Amino acid sequence: MEVELGVPVSESPTQIWTPQSWRNFTAHQQPKYTSTDDVAQVAKQLAGHPPLVFAAEARELRRQLAQVAEGKAFLLQGGDCAESFADFNANRIRDTFKVLLQMAVVLTFAGNLPVVKVARMAGQYAKPRSADTETINGVELPSYRGDIINGIDFTAEARQPDPQRMVTAYNQSAATLNLLRAFAQGGLADLHQVHGWNLSFLKNNPQREKYALLAERLQEALEFMAVCGVTSENTPAIRETVLYTSHEALLLEYEQALTRTDSLTGKWYDCSAHMLWIGERTRQLDGAHVEFLSGVCNPVGVKVGPNMQTDELLRLIDKLNPENEAGRLTLITRMGADILADKLPALVRAVQAEGRSVVWSTDPMHGNTVKAGNGYKTRDFDKVLREIRDFFSVHWSEGSHPGGIHLEMTGEHVTECTGGAWKISEADLASCYRTQCDPRLNADQVLELAFCVSEWLRA
Ligand code: PEP
Ligand code: MN
Repeated sequence: MEVELGVPVSESPTQIWTPQSWRNFTAHQQPKYTSTDDVAQVAKQLAGHPPLVFAAEARELRRQLAQVAEGKAFLLQGGDCAESFADFNANRIRDTFKVLLQMAVVLTFAGNLPVVKVARMAGQYAKPRSADTETINGVELPSYRGDIINGIDFTAEARQPDPQRMVTAYNQSAATLNLLRAFAQGGLADLHQVHGWNLSFLKNNPQREKYALLAERLQEALEFMAVCGVTSENTPAIRETVLYTSHEALLLEYEQALTRTDSLTGKWYDCSAHMLWIGERTRQLDGAHVEFLSGVCNPVGVKVGPNMQTDELLRLIDKLNPENEAGRLTLITRMGADILADKLPALVRAVQAEGRSVVWSTDPMHGNTVKAGNGYKTRDFDKVLREIRDFFSVHWSEGSHPGGIHLEMTGEHVTECTGGAWKISEADLASCYRTQCDPRLNADQVLELAFCVSEWLRA
């Protein structure tokens, strides 16, 4: 990999794409740093640092996502709404890793399809906000925009954007990725072990009767494979896994600094993560984020909210995937459980009619956020499930593949979303509400969700 910022690789009728061509477009949701010299200094430093991921890995993910687009695999993407500098430790990383694997085993078995695992981790440090400022008790300060930009404490000092935070985010992403790679290859991902965790999850769960049959059948399948001589010792596929990383490509200074040419193909890759996505607030067709991601060869995603129009969606697809390559583009719908069944069919039909190859994934979190009576931002488990179920139904009735799920979740036992087998109530939210931003499903809720989805997949 070489750092060759400024070398044009692709040409559109109106302009040439470069890693900095986004600067000619309006970039929403960017911090207002006080010193552009300091930003340039940090960007230069990061541009000299090693890439966090390798272009060939991003290409392999793209190949696997092409399988998803063709209905031959399923995408599971999840992790924190926002990672934090303060809450950075091995246990947190391990717990999210474990629960993603546990879900993947259930979904693979039930859906009879390989599951492509993509973590919202090792770089998910920037947050788009609906307002530039926040006012508490008459004091107005800049909004918190994620640890890569400013601090969460409600003080003028913490809320001041600091470019040095990009270096901390890079270092923490590198350490997180290092641990994830070790977990994936070093024995923690062994299928028998993951199944064992699922059994202990079920043992304690009030809904265990409902899911016992699936667990038993999986147990039998593993025993059968062992009898046939397929074991962890002789089969890497049972012992190891691959977990890709992803985050919202929001802070363009940082993404540009991590963008490199691949020495093998000469193409540009954003090496901050395997997959990057554009959020609902920054997906303007003529905006800087769409421009930036249009030129890197990673698999990319774009959030699709309830106001997306069919022609707008088709133009976005044209811009992000002009060659109509399978696996390049994932459309992550986030409509809200009450709206999806109404809005999604037209979009799916238009994409089908135009013969566009995309991965359809559902984010059942961001359209279902509510404020509880006691002031906590929360999401209800049943609503999250309903949006997923409706997403599946719409795709099945349109003859399209419901390709994936995108979740805000954690392996910890937090109380941020209501409902689930443990019936977390609004009153319970205060007991362990720890998110930096949006409410996440906890380990029990997210596994229960995987078991519920697996029932629909088998139906
Ligand atoms: C997110 O995924 O954290 C997010 C902000 O989503 P959206 O852009 O869909 O609102
Ligand atoms: Mn969020």
